[in-house]
Amino acid sequence: MKQEFRELLQQRGRKEHPRVLLAAAECAPLSKTGGLADVVGTLPKALKKLGIDARVITPYHRCIKEKYASLVQHMFYFYVQLGWRREYVGIEKLELDGITVYLVDNESFFGDKIYRGGYPEGEQYCFFCRAVLDAMPNLGFDPDVVHCNDWHTAMLPLLAHTQYPGQLQDRAKYLLTIHNIAFQGKFGFDFVQDMLGVDGRYYTPDCMELNGCADFLKAGCVFADRINTVSPSYASEIRTPYYGEGLEGILNARHEVLTGIINGIDRDFFNPQTDPALPACFDRGQLKGKAICKASLQEQMGLERRPDVPMFAMVTRMTEQKGFDLVACILDDMMCREDMQFMLLGSGDERFEKFMAAAEHRYPGKLCAFIGYRESLSHLVYAGSDFFLMPSRFEPCGLSQMIAMRYGSIPIVRETGGLRDTVIPYNRFKSEGNGFSFANFDAWEMRDAMRFAMECYQNKETMQELISRAMQADFGFDHSAEDYARHYIWML
Ligand code: ADP
Repeated sequence: MKQEFRELLQQRGRKEHPRVLLAAAECAPLSKTGGLADVVGTLPKALKKLGIDARVITPYHRCIKEKYASLVQHMFYFYVQLGWRREYVGIEKLELDGITVYLVDNESFFGDKIYRGGYPEGEQYCFFCRAVLDAMPNLGFDPDVVHCNDWHTAMLPLLAHTQYPGQLQDRAKYLLTIHNIAFQGKFGFDFVQDMLGVDGRYYTPDCMELNGCADFLKAGCVFADRINTVSPSYASEIRTPYYGEGLEGILNARHEVLTGIINGIDRDFFNPQTDPALPACFDRGQLKGKAICKASLQEQMGLERRPDVPMFAMVTRMTEQKGFDLVACILDDMMCREDMQFMLLGSGDERFEKFMAAAEHRYPGKLCAFIGYRESLSHLVYAGSDFFLMPSRFEPCGLSQMIAMRYGSIPIVRETGGLRDTVIPYNRFKSEGNGFSFANFDAWEMRDAMRFAMECYQNKETMQELISRAMQADFGFDHSAEDYARHYIWML
């Protein structure tokens, strides 16, 4: 055990590390729709290296059943009351890469989509929270800390402290991680009262009420022992009205227990030296393979095969959050005036998909818009491109810019959230930086940053320097795991 942890534990009169139960709606590789799944999947493994027994509890979604049923072991079952219904809860167990995962089974809630949207999604996760709390005494694992993630599990501390007084659920400490504050789980209070039996006295502006709704994430912010979000900058930003989505008041009131812990990426999975999705491998000392990747990408995507032209890329959800309106604003200006290529891999809002598909016809050989989700193509885009554009309106952490840097694609980002914490802007006088950035959510500022990047592209030495520094940055998960470990111990 690290000396620092030993001392921290000693201060709290403990010899061993805390036991942790991570509760989340999704967990990679079992179920995944976004970055949350990656964190929940990777964190317990990194914690295990530190000697922490962290287990996961997650719904037994249909997609998990289809792939892993033969490895799953039934533990026990019981019934919970949910409104007027009595619902079956099966608790199954799966050992995955040395991590214990408890799966909450009920076909009627988890038999199709991970997120059903609207009230059906509210029902799914009210059921899940109730099932987790009622299952806890029988898991054979008494957690010191329950680690909740996003609104889907944010009701756990309120329910534990108000409905299970003096019991094991009440004695545990609760950490709430906010992965994206834009999603809060807002429902009519009647619904919440009916589903979970929450007392009317908690439906107040200083507790879970927000703009006439019962807000699950707000309830979590009020009742959790500690709150964290996925980057230090985002942790400060969400205390302001622009980013706080109505929760800035409660977050300011609780700022002493609010911190930011940056996520990491799986450095083995995203590794240009060994990646099987690439036609040639490379590292920062030997970039020949990167040129081969660029040529291959150009050929596969119908772009002109030119090694000397700067290629800008995006791999992204096509939404307003990701700054697509900025791209739409300056794309024609850039494509007409500059000698450059643009490669997009993404899907999302129909209006952005249509805009990009039309642009592909206007700039044949110069611009490619691949609409869809393709994991292996994304690796080639990261490896084959020179610059990676991420002009987000807000970005809790962002993994794409870290992956891009790992593959030597220089990020051009808006200075917000995790982008600000991971990308150091290039400074030609001090010879420092691993990317380019701009401050305001403004298309012309973004264009200036892209132009500066193109200017640097003309100088081989500068590019070499930038690529080397970008590829050197350490975005592994081990630092995040140590930070989480500290947080768990602080809560004991
Ligand atoms: P967010 O979770 O907000 O969408 P992140 O940058 O944190 O953004 O993570 C996005 C992840 O999803 C990255 O690993 C990125 O490579 C991947 N991704 C996004 N869109 C696509 C796509 N169309 N095809 C393949 N991978 C994608």
